[in-house]
Amino acid sequence: MSARKGALPYAGASDVGLVRSGNEDFYVVNPPLFAVADGLGGHQAGEIASQIAIETLLGNSPARADAKALGRAVRAANAAVIEGAQAGLGRSGMGTTLTAAMIDGTRIAVAHVGDSRAYLLHLGELTQLTADHSMVADMVRAGTLSEAESRVHPNRSVITRALGSDPNMLVDAFELEAAPGDRLLLCSDGLTSMIEDAAIEEILQTAPSPNAAVVRLIAAANDAGGQDNITTVVVDLEGSSPVAAPRPAPAQRVAPSAPRERARRWPARVAWLFAAVAIIAVAWYATYSYAQAQAYLIAEEGVVAVYRGVPGSFAGVSLNWLESVTDIPVDGLDPVTAARLQTGIRVDGLAPAFSLVATYRLQTEHSSEPTTTP
Ligand code: MN
Repeated sequence: MSARKGALPYAGASDVGLVRSGNEDFYVVNPPLFAVADGLGGHQAGEIASQIAIETLLGNSPARADAKALGRAVRAANAAVIEGAQAGLGRSGMGTTLTAAMIDGTRIAVAHVGDSRAYLLHLGELTQLTADHSMVADMVRAGTLSEAESRVHPNRSVITRALGSDPNMLVDAFELEAAPGDRLLLCSDGLTSMIEDAAIEEILQTAPSPNAAVVRLIAAANDAGGQDNITTVVVDLEGSSPVAAPRPAPAQRVAPSAPRERARRWPARVAWLFAAVAIIAVAWYATYSYAQAQAYLIAEEGVVAVYRGVPGSFAGVSLNWLESVTDIPVDGLDPVTAARLQTGIRVDGLAPAFSLVATYRLQTEHSSEPTTTP
């Protein structure tokens, strides 16, 4: 949604590399949200897992740089990858890494699982923000392997945590305060397994723009062999332009209680009845306001429809309200999205719902490839 976009200079790109036949990485640049996912499980699985993860993240992204909320969105992405496999998308056992950052001025929230990384260039110095969930990283931390040895270790691509298998998967989530002019990098291991941090640092220091940086990083990884898919997202922080992320309008409030004077005249029995009704009303209101804040996309008569609320009904009452019927044909979308739309894709509010609609629209207008993928 345009209201969510700040004026952050940023760029993202993904490259298949020189050895692999397909690209299983996926990324999104949708300010203030940025993310990289590296799919696992081979062709027809890894790229589906990474796509589901990124789309679900996008649909559940918080309004602010809030690590807890971003962590919840990553857990929702994990559930969606597991459900996707159960529903016959991709292959069972498919998985993906996910490294997501949300930027609010100079505040950065990061949520991370796997061996894709986030780095920050601050005053010309590169710092790795995330800790890899990988076998070799564990060995380096334990002191049984050097950083240099980890680059050539036969099990260097074995990751110890990924989306798609454990419903109770742990997410590393944290916030940090960066500075104006800092440069954030998110990348898949196709970059970091090919070139040293010193080379990454040099490119980030000297590239005049985020776009120049992503181009040079990918070229450097390919020059070094391009053994894996390479995905890079670079964002320049501008402290002077905090991202405007308006909160959704507050749900309507509970009606004020009856005026005092009248209440005094009520017999006790009526007062008790009123209390019972009030308790039920409050419970109902809680459910209702929860549903009001939710949204979902669903295939309806061949096109994508947007609903506020939740699919189905609660105590016999449906809690959904048609918001918009788009002209986006479901069969013009990629098969994964089309299949998920049959049962509905739930998102955390209307803003992310329309954000997804915008990506679907670009997808049907320009090509059969999803817009968030290279
Ligand atoms: Mn990879």
